[in-house]
Amino acid sequence: MEAQFPDVRSMVAALKPSYPVYCLRPEVLRRTTERFLELFPGRVLYAVKCNPHPRVLRALYEAGIRHFDTASLPEIALVRESFPDAGAYFMHPVKSRAAIHTAERVYGVDTFIVDHAEELVKVLDETGGGEGVTIVVRLKTPPIEGTFYHLAAKFGADQDDAAALLREARSRGCQVGLAFHVGSQCLVPGAYRQALGIVGEVLEKAKTPIQVLDVGGGFPVQYVGTNMPPLEDYIAEIEDGVKELKLRRDCVLMCEPGRALVADGVSLVVQVQLRKGDQLYINDGIYGSLSEMVTAGLKLPARLVRLKGKPSEQMRAFILNGPTCDSLDVLPSTFDLPEDVGEGDWIEIDRVGAYSHALASRFNGFYPETLVAVNDKPIGAG
Ligand SMILES: *Cc1c(COP(=O)(O)O)cnc(C)c1O
Repeated sequence: MEAQFPDVRSMVAALKPSYPVYCLRPEVLRRTTERFLELFPGRVLYAVKCNPHPRVLRALYEAGIRHFDTASLPEIALVRESFPDAGAYFMHPVKSRAAIHTAERVYGVDTFIVDHAEELVKVLDETGGGEGVTIVVRLKTPPIEGTFYHLAAKFGADQDDAAALLREARSRGCQVGLAFHVGSQCLVPGAYRQALGIVGEVLEKAKTPIQVLDVGGGFPVQYVGTNMPPLEDYIAEIEDGVKELKLRRDCVLMCEPGRALVADGVSLVVQVQLRKGDQLYINDGIYGSLSEMVTAGLKLPARLVRLKGKPSEQMRAFILNGPTCDSLDVLPSTFDLPEDVGEGDWIEIDRVGAYSHALASRFNGFYPETLVAVNDKPIGAG
């Protein structure tokens, strides 16, 4: 079933939800995605892990996304079964042999990422290699000040190993490519240029032309207090960096945005279960949709939704407590809300499309799982 409401208020009036509700704004998702597709001078793969909700995937597909960065067999199955004409790319540097085999034989996946010689052996064993298989080597990039997560801490080959992997895959007749990920919510456009410089050095060492260059994800989103350069600056750095590489004309430029496509398109409506002074107890928290407030220090915009009576115009900072019994389950930054907020009120928390539902646990029996579509404007959009 797919519930749809004209706006958040009518959803609250209809459901009076005592459970958290995700409000998908397909129109916002479509606009954001279309703009990204327009600006990026290459192939855009959506990083499924960011938000694999079927309704989100469909909105992205409807906006024109035809390629998906997947990291597991369930993600690959979800993409290929939902959209038979879309491509899934196996972008996890460590895969089980069974997953490689099934991805290729059952789901027709032909692009695999590796960052180690033994992983390359696994992919070649299970697929047979050759012209029909593309091996993309994931590069280690230096940590960038101004990203939330340093994604090269766990994966990535250094330059010499990457060059050797390219040559080895090429010698087995495969198409080859290079990839990196500068880190999520990257606020420094120059990070992409810097990473492309490393790509250039590897290409010099490898002396092998590449058919794929994948600049990864990391494109940021405007949260509360984020000092975000425009997407155009990122694209310019990428274009300049790519130009210097003098790639062959048949090389496909790709990227793998997650957050930048979906964060704005989903909000979360929670209910206040109890107020104690300036503390509110709500029905979602750090073990549910809001873990990135802790891990990434995100600050999110919020507004009160009350069905009867006008809320006070006087605002005040409140501490929001999550529903579990763990005393750590407190949101790390306060929210400004009308000073008379109380039990039974709802709060809409915006910009939660990325890494929210995907990271939610069932701890203590609380699990956010309701999603509806709405058509009103997100918080802060004029
Ligand atoms: C998580 C991830 C992405 C998406 O990153 P965002 O910061 O959400 O854009 C892309 N590629 C890889 C390999 C990832 O692990």
